[in-house]
Amino acid sequence: MTFFFHETVPVTTGTVSVAFTDRRLDLGDLAEPAVREAGLGEVAAASGATPHLMHQVHGAHVHVVDGPASAVPDADALVTALSGEALLARAADCVPVLLVAASGEVGAVHAGREGVRHGVVAAALALLHELGATDVRAWVGPHICGRCYEVPAQLRDEVAAVVPATRATTSWGTPALDLGAGVRAQLAAAGVPAVDVGGCTREDEALHSYRRDGAAAGRLAGVVWRTP
Ligand SMILES: [Zn+2]
Repeated sequence: MTFFFHETVPVTTGTVSVAFTDRRLDLGDLAEPAVREAGLGEVAAASGATPHLMHQVHGAHVHVVDGPASAVPDADALVTALSGEALLARAADCVPVLLVAASGEVGAVHAGREGVRHGVVAAALALLHELGATDVRAWVGPHICGRCYEVPAQLRDEVAAVVPATRATTSWGTPALDLGAGVRAQLAAAGVPAVDVGGCTREDEALHSYRRDGAAAGRLAGVVWRTP
């Protein structure tokens, strides 16, 4: 099974699938090339669509997929109005967010600490609307929870000053950030209803986690595509 979660959403221009992978695949740039290629092959076969990756740089740049993949763009969100193109947001503790418009446009967002701080979700929503999107909904994928994501107090204060909902405390009583709460607050502020998928990456061994596994951690992915 390629996806641990897969839901189909009827839209005016076909059907959109929202899906998430787990630890059974490693789609990360640090995976052995054969492992990553096998994972992408599984995603392509399961979706019947062409996978599009991005080189995620913890910013708020959004790339529009308007044709076959060429170079992998430096971006933290992908959006498209096309069918048959599968957009991937990869993560291991950061928040993968999938966006679906009732009119059929889709987006995949990598919202890490810097992405939340710099508003990558809002940037992706803005570009989706430029493409003509109406009535956008979101699926918020597995990520590290606020009880696990310890950060220095100054960093927590800096991010919480911009996105108050991120302010959190670990289960052991130290400063933390709740990136999922931050993303949900940003979606709510934009009037976008959101569904939560999956648990905490650090606590659930079935998911990839950088905080748990360190530099050797793999990457899961949120995947979204439209079928005509
Ligand atoms: Zn947790």
